[in-house]
Amino acid sequence: MPVSFLSQLQHQGRELTGRALDRHLRLGVTGLSGAGKTAFITSLVHQLTQGDSSDNLPFFAVVQQQRFLGARLSQQPLSVPRFALDQNLSYLQHEPPQWPPSTQGFSQLNLNLRYKAAEGLRARLQHSSELALEVIDYPGEWLLDLPLLELTYAKWCEFSWQLFARPHRKAAAEPFKQALLSADLSLSTPGQLQQLTDAYKTLMQQFHQIPGAYLNQPGRVLVPGELAGAPMLQLFPLLPEQLEAAPALAKQLEQHYQSYCQHVIKPFYQRYFARLDRQVILVDCLAALNAGADALAELSQALKLILQSFQYGPGGLLSRLFKPRIDKVLFAASKADHVTPEQHKALTLLLQQLLQQPLKQSLYQAATSEAMSIAAIRASNSGYVQVDGLAQPCLSGTTMTGKAVTYFPGEVPAAQPDAQLFSRHKFEFIELRPQPWRDNTALPHIRMDHVLQFLLGDKLR
Ligand code: GDP
Repeated sequence: MPVSFLSQLQHQGRELTGRALDRHLRLGVTGLSGAGKTAFITSLVHQLTQGDSSDNLPFFAVVQQQRFLGARLSQQPLSVPRFALDQNLSYLQHEPPQWPPSTQGFSQLNLNLRYKAAEGLRARLQHSSELALEVIDYPGEWLLDLPLLELTYAKWCEFSWQLFARPHRKAAAEPFKQALLSADLSLSTPGQLQQLTDAYKTLMQQFHQIPGAYLNQPGRVLVPGELAGAPMLQLFPLLPEQLEAAPALAKQLEQHYQSYCQHVIKPFYQRYFARLDRQVILVDCLAALNAGADALAELSQALKLILQSFQYGPGGLLSRLFKPRIDKVLFAASKADHVTPEQHKALTLLLQQLLQQPLKQSLYQAATSEAMSIAAIRASNSGYVQVDGLAQPCLSGTTMTGKAVTYFPGEVPAAQPDAQLFSRHKFEFIELRPQPWRDNTALPHIRMDHVLQFLLGDKLR
């Protein structure tokens, strides 16, 4: 029997036993590209393995009550890509410090947490208890694919071209539109299909660079991973008026679309998503504010689509695919260190407002959810400066170009501002370099202890 298969069986055996004893937790971490997943997982794991002092994690009860005995990395299935923890930590120690590279696909890191139980039989009988924690990193863009299951190819074309007509996307979409209009679609040769696919991929790459163009489908066109070269990725939206004019090509694209739904989207939900117990969704609201009204509107729309993955209602799309079991969802407004502390409340309220509509629609009874503002790796220090005899809040840090700055980054609106405000006011929350950091100290953060308490507190009692 191949070694990897054997180790996978052993791993699954351990997982089942752990699960039966409630000693096993799979935590999914997601968010759209750049939302902060890599920084978040790097920090979460480092806080658990190296930062478990009550000064560093005052709101993490198991640490505060001195019951935490430590966390260690543990074995994981050989067939799953490992989250690059050591590499990420080494980026932070560069001279000058650098942010680690962002999430590109699916990866995992396994940990064993040891603690003293606080109460019950276990506290009396066992010196220590263990919780096996699996942290799973995957792009939020993959969740944006779910709605495709309920659309036909033709409807998806309509949806896409409505999206591409928005002011922040229109100019970028023009060359692809022209390529479609000038192609002789009645030919429908393999070469032509590939050419137009490449043109669509270029467009997706351009969208990826446009701040606030969040909603890019299908998710694997940009990051195909193991699917690179698969014919079903020859997929792009024809202009709605071309569907009838080029029936052969439209039929072929419809087949690729259905194949993508069957062989990419459904298996992702059945194999990975269905096995998650808890989920963190990171949202970079500040970057959306910087990018303007259209960006914020598109962020809200993207969140709405992402939240469909948590609508478990009877008869819903997901419950037909699998039996979901996520019981806690944390929505975190990331990079809160880009604003002064008294703005954190407004940032959380803004996130809640962006989620409100979708949250109301989603059937959340099964899962507890919470929203908070956090910084996985705090890059600024906050303080006050005297202005006209008054103490004004400020931040100090180092810009990405290496300039030391002390400044007030501005206020965060507690609700989605109307488009007019964006025409009068430009939000400028600047990016900062990570602070110099040595491996034997805890990573600076904001509210990672609250995060740990919400996600793990009840499992470590
Ligand atoms: P991913 O694409 O979701 O994996 O996002 P990353 O974790 O790579 O984060 C993208 C960028 O956001 C990083 O390169 C940093 O510039 C910034 N970032 C992420 N987390 C933080 C944080 O906690 N504080 C600050 N100041 N910046 C952050």
